Amino acid sequence: MERQLTSIKRTFFLALLLGLCTQVFAQPRLVLQITVDGLRGDLLDRYAANLGEDGFNYLLTQGTVYTNAHYLHANTETIVGHATLATGATPAVHGMVGNVWYNADTGELGYNIEDPDAPLIPTREQAASGAQVDPAQLRARSSGRSPKGMLVPTFSDTLKVASGGKAKVFGISGKDRSAVALAGKTGVAYWYSTDTGDFLSSAYYMNEYPQWVRTWNEQRMAEALDGRQWTLLLDQSRYLFADNDDRPYEVDLKGYGRTFPHAYGPTKHPLFFTRVAVSPEGDRLLLDFGKKLIQAEEIGQDEVTDYLSISFSGVDAVNHFFGPSSLENEDTVLQLDRTLADLFHFIDKEIGLDQTLIVLAADHGMAEMPEYAKELGYDAGRIYGDEVLSHARELSVNLFDSQDLVKDFFRPYLYLDRAVIDERGLDHSIVSEAIATGLAEMPGIGGAVASHTLGNQISSPQTEAILRNHHKQRSGDIYVFQQPYWFFFDRGPVGAMHGSPWAYDTHVKIMFSGPGIKAAKIHRLVHPVDVAPTLSALLGLSPPAAAEGEVLVEVLSNSGASDR
Ligand SMILES: [Zn+2]
Repeated sequence: MERQLTSIKRTFFLALLLGLCTQVFAQPRLVLQITVDGLRGDLLDRYAANLGEDGFNYLLTQGTVYTNAHYLHANTETIVGHATLATGATPAVHGMVGNVWYNADTGELGYNIEDPDAPLIPTREQAASGAQVDPAQLRARSSGRSPKGMLVPTFSDTLKVASGGKAKVFGISGKDRSAVALAGKTGVAYWYSTDTGDFLSSAYYMNEYPQWVRTWNEQRMAEALDGRQWTLLLDQSRYLFADNDDRPYEVDLKGYGRTFPHAYGPTKHPLFFTRVAVSPEGDRLLLDFGKKLIQAEEIGQDEVTDYLSISFSGVDAVNHFFGPSSLENEDTVLQLDRTLADLFHFIDKEIGLDQTLIVLAADHGMAEMPEYAKELGYDAGRIYGDEVLSHARELSVNLFDSQDLVKDFFRPYLYLDRAVIDERGLDHSIVSEAIATGLAEMPGIGGAVASHTLGNQISSPQTEAILRNHHKQRSGDIYVFQQPYWFFFDRGPVGAMHGSPWAYDTHVKIMFSGPGIKAAKIHRLVHPVDVAPTLSALLGLSPPAAAEGEVLVEVLSNSGASDR
């Protein structure tokens, strides 16, 4: 009896020990989700010769890399991509159909994460107010921000709930929407302010800033760049686009210039903090803030897996003003490569890279500037939202003798006024299809699809992508998209734009690295909706509630997690 008990005890201890060992191997201390805003799928290949060993190459040479990932939705914008990475769902389900959509409650266009009930928490007595150049942000009527508009849980929410609330969850970014989407509803988000250079949060997350955030903001790191300039990392002759610095269609941000060096100017310049974000410095500030967060919040310091999302906004910001085939883009990617190396060394020291599961992806790609495409022999041009709106109104007058049938347009959706259509005794489907047919004939327009016909359309990748973008309460009546290489957005100081359903906008790379994940390059077609279910599978969790994607089996079969 005694011996039997000892044997049972021994077996129990052995099982416990084995269980612990398995857990230590399989459960990382940290899931680090990195998003590089606007890092089109081909950019790292272009610049491979000048990448260092321990930045992107840490993932490219030691991780499982998916070279051919494409978004499934049509409106390839920042919030849509980030929400998709976060939830593993498409916008039809997660509800973030665009940076801006028509809000049925207010009767106005609204910004995706605006929330008047979640005011910003001020960081200074009197916050300065810089000039806003983000056309999506201009649509917000209050400065409040929260994830209220996200309709389904994120991976980070899933981890938080599965851990009984013990997992620490944070999302940080140069852009508010990118921080908020990945932090989910249960995490905490911080983002860079183009008004002050401080990192902000809102009343959704906290009543007041923790001391470490106050201390970080009091350092005024962005202001230390007063009078400084953005210079090239390497000798100019080493760049692919060495001779491409001065192109007439690049945007000069009120004196920031089209060629190196780019001077940030004095801090009192209304675009000073924006210019810092349109340079490699914005990503470095974000990294520094992230390091302080990791230390102060004790991320990855115990057996409970924590989650940190860092979304770097510099590449996208630079793309918008200088285009993806510019010396500025090339230098931003190379400087981000060094910033990532710095991040990985820091993680290794504080937590251990062998204890950290890293996934890196982008939220969308980027189109070349139409003038550049034209120079190279591909006919393209610019089409603006106000032209689509006025043409829709003309069509409405010509066909139905009233321009009031059309309410508004914000790319990609045209909104009709149902009340007016009903009042006039007209049929909504007929009006919608007639206007869509007319819009599709505009020069530069690739297609205009009436929402009620989705599902009955002859299937093409574009109509499928529009269907996956369609949310009944939020999407408009007609989805309008451009022909390849055409620029299609609001007027303003924007040189290049993403947002189309074409491959240069949908194509990103996805990379995983971490305990047991082996080096592999996978070229089959995969989708960013696969990221959240794959992270879940690696951790032995059920996928986020609405995830549609597949588990990327190569990551698991390499990591040994498939044995569990
Ligand atoms: Zn973006």
